[in-house]
Amino acid sequence: MRVAETILDTIGNTPLVKLNHVTEGIAATVLAKIEYVNPGGSVKDRIAIKIIDAAEAEGKLKPGGTIVEPTSGNTGVGLALVAQQRGYRCVFVCPDKVGEDKINVLKAYGAEVVMTPTSVPPDHPESYYSVSDRLAAEIPGAYKPNQYENLNGPASHYESTGPEIWRDTDGTVTHFVAGVGTGGTISGTGRYLREVGDVTVIGADPEGSVYSGGTGRPYLVEGVGEDMWPGAYDPKVPHQIIAVTDAESFEMTTRLALEEGLLVGGSSGMAVVAAIKAAKDLGPEHTVVVLLPDGGRGYLGKIFNEGWMRSYGFAPVAEEKTVGDVLS
Ligand code: PMP
Repeated sequence: MRVAETILDTIGNTPLVKLNHVTEGIAATVLAKIEYVNPGGSVKDRIAIKIIDAAEAEGKLKPGGTIVEPTSGNTGVGLALVAQQRGYRCVFVCPDKVGEDKINVLKAYGAEVVMTPTSVPPDHPESYYSVSDRLAAEIPGAYKPNQYENLNGPASHYESTGPEIWRDTDGTVTHFVAGVGTGGTISGTGRYLREVGDVTVIGADPEGSVYSGGTGRPYLVEGVGEDMWPGAYDPKVPHQIIAVTDAESFEMTTRLALEEGLLVGGSSGMAVVAAIKAAKDLGPEHTVVVLLPDGGRGYLGKIFNEGWMRSYGFAPVAEEKTVGDVLS
């Protein structure tokens, strides 16, 4: 029988899928690593299991303990899944720009969610960093994974994402592209690939974020970009950082669903824009792997919503039709 003992055993070993349409005019092979097939729906399941395993091994998380974390959703889902299976309570702190669907998913897994304003600086007492510090200090038996500083995040990618890409491309990968949020994905995967091969590592960053020289000016794409430099990010790993605008990211996100059958989030669109920019000047002997962190179902009220897209001046994926429109 091929049976997983628990849902946690299905984390990782995600597929590489060739992009065939959005890559028109590109000679290099561009492969997307589809992280939404992880059980929690994102790449963050990988860091969740590694971080909790390590916290248990180090005695930082004890039976009956509580996990407290500031998270934009995906890390929370991963942590909630692992915590639920192992009997821990979860309290998450989320900035209010995060979509309601993502919050409801956290609650569905049994987590408690506290919302904080996006518009305050990180050192403000109401910021999601400050609120989570306070909860972690005041809840007995609390453990704060702190994905921004926890080196088990990049380590999980060094141990799983990187080796999977090397194995599944038979060592032919020449470029790796990923969006940068905590920096865990690019730092761990990139470090592995640079050690085993001659792989160029490229970070994708929302225009305005610190990684591409900005100050952290608000942008709409979720899960990537920063207004500070997290410890999980190793700036020595990427050879290059490419800044991508919200408009470019959202246009590509809608095209991935329409043309490639990939219903993914905005940071996936952003990463593919950067991958295509990087691949433009490459010949057919190159293989670019781009990581798509999550699925599009958490963004149905935003990127895939006509009114929301129009309200920010972006072209919606499809306009609603009348029966007459369809028959004409
Ligand atoms: N995209 C999404 C949707 C995310 O939730 C995250 C994690 N914050 C990322 C990209 C970036 O991954 P990392 O934190 O490993 O840099």
